[in-house]
Amino acid sequence: MKKFLWVILGVVLVAVLYACSSVALTGRKQVLLYSNSDIMALSEQSYLEFAQTARASTNAAMTQKVRVVCSKLINAMNNYFINSGQQNPMQGLNWHIDLVQSEEINAFCLPSGNIVVYEGLANFVENDDQLAAVVGHEIAHAIANHSNERMSRATLTESLHKTILQAAAASGRVSDSQLAVFNTALGLGGQYGVILPFSRKQELEADHIGLIMMAIAGYKVEEAPKLWVKMAENGQAVPEFMSTHPSDVRRIQNLEKYIPEAKAYAGK
Ligand SMILES: [Zn+2]
Repeated sequence: MKKFLWVILGVVLVAVLYACSSVALTGRKQVLLYSNSDIMALSEQSYLEFAQTARASTNAAMTQKVRVVCSKLINAMNNYFINSGQQNPMQGLNWHIDLVQSEEINAFCLPSGNIVVYEGLANFVENDDQLAAVVGHEIAHAIANHSNERMSRATLTESLHKTILQAAAASGRVSDSQLAVFNTALGLGGQYGVILPFSRKQELEADHIGLIMMAIAGYKVEEAPKLWVKMAENGQAVPEFMSTHPSDVRRIQNLEKYIPEAKAYAGK
C-alpha cells in the first residue's frame, strides 16, 4: 500500500512538473493541465449559455464608451507583449465586448476573451480609469490562465483522491460499496465549468496584473484603489461572477503596494 502511494505521488509530481508554466507579468509558477482549445470550447459554451438570457444594452453611447476602454486595454497589452518579445498569452483569444442590461455592479471576462460589462457597473464608476480598473482585473484572469489553473487543481485533487481510494479498496481497507459511494460523491463534485470561483491568491494577482495593464494603456492607476474604497463605502459587493474575494482592506492595501511598480510600466 505504502509503495503504491509513493508511485501515485511520483506520477502526480511528474504531471505537475510537465505541466508547469509561468504567469505573464508576475512570473508565478502554475500548473495547467488543459489545452487552450479545451478551455476555449468550455468558455464559448459558457458564453452561449449566458447570452441566452442576457439582453444587450440599448444605450449606444455607454456601449461605445465600454468598447473603447476594453479595446484600449486589449490593444495596449497585445502591443506590449509583441514589442517586449514575450510569449503573448492573448494570442488566439476571440475578443468580444458586450454591455448588458442589468443594474448589477458586475463584469467578467471569460478565458476565450468574451468581456461582459453590466450597465450597473458602467453607471457606478466615476471615470474611464475606474472602468479600466475593473475590466483590467477581469482581462487579467484570462491572461493569467486562472480558469485553467483552478480546473487543473480540482482535477489533480480529484484524481489523487480517486486513486488513493482505489488503492485502499484493492488492499481491502475500503469495501467496493464504500468505494462506489465515494466515487459518486467525487463525480458529483467533478462537474467543473470555466466559471469556477477564483482563489484569493488569483484575485490579488488579477489586481496586480490589472494595475500594470492600466499603466501600459495610459490610465491613472491611483483610480483603482479609489474605486474599491468607494465600493466599500457604499456597501457594494465587489464585482465578479461567482467569486470569493479578499477583504476590501486587503485588496486596497495590495493595490497600493503595486502602484509604484505599475507606474514604471507607463509608456511601455
Ligand atoms: Zn477577479
